[in-house]
Amino acid sequence: MKFDIITIFPNIFSGFLSESLLAKAQQKKLITIKTHYLRDWTDDRHQTIDGKPYGGGPGLVFKIEPIYKALKTIKPVKKSKVILFSPRGKQFTNDMAKKWAKLDQLVLICGRYEGVDERVAENLVDEVISIGDFVLNGGEVAAMAVIEAVSRQLPNFMHTEESSLKDDHAQYTKPEIFEPKKGTKWRVPKVLLSGNHAKIEEWRKKNK
Ligand code: SAM
Repeated sequence: MKFDIITIFPNIFSGFLSESLLAKAQQKKLITIKTHYLRDWTDDRHQTIDGKPYGGGPGLVFKIEPIYKALKTIKPVKKSKVILFSPRGKQFTNDMAKKWAKLDQLVLICGRYEGVDERVAENLVDEVISIGDFVLNGGEVAAMAVIEAVSRQLPNFMHTEESSLKDDHAQYTKPEIFEPKKGTKWRVPKVLLSGNHAKIEEWRKKNK
């Protein structure tokens, strides 16, 4: 699966993509992630990607032309979706992550400042997505969330396939009793120590 990220801050992704399971998945060629620097699709000396909003108001808005040109240049892959991030978008869910993991390509457009010229949402993308009911400075964190959630759904991404499906219940590990101060004991629920798998499964279902 290929992720193409359009951003004015490609360096934000360096650490994120070079650690842990995402780094391994890239080494194994399970996923390819490419950042595209939006200013590369400008043709003025200042590499202008933004402009004042029509009708007035504070701040700057991403212009449509560089995004249009970027999308024209990014090589389309067979089953592909173009996503624009916006706090006004449709809420991203794990079900979407599962569906998108069946695609060959996700193109992720990260806005900044006051957002993106609405004609991008109206004409150039398949979906406008929000990762939650809050406002971020930019779409980069949203792109990272989507990349991680989608990648987890790919066969062979996790160490065991099961862990991507089943680890959504409360978990404990050693020590069995943690004593933060004298007289206070925080214990692991007894059922998890019982060895009774049916009871453990029942407890896990209740503690999702
Ligand atoms: N008023 C602007 C709007 O409604 O689009 C807010 C722009 S926000 C400060 C800048 C960029 O951050 C947005 O264009 C979007 O790409 C990203 N962003 C902010 N909050 C987000 C969220 N909850 N989910 C996804 N992207 C978000």
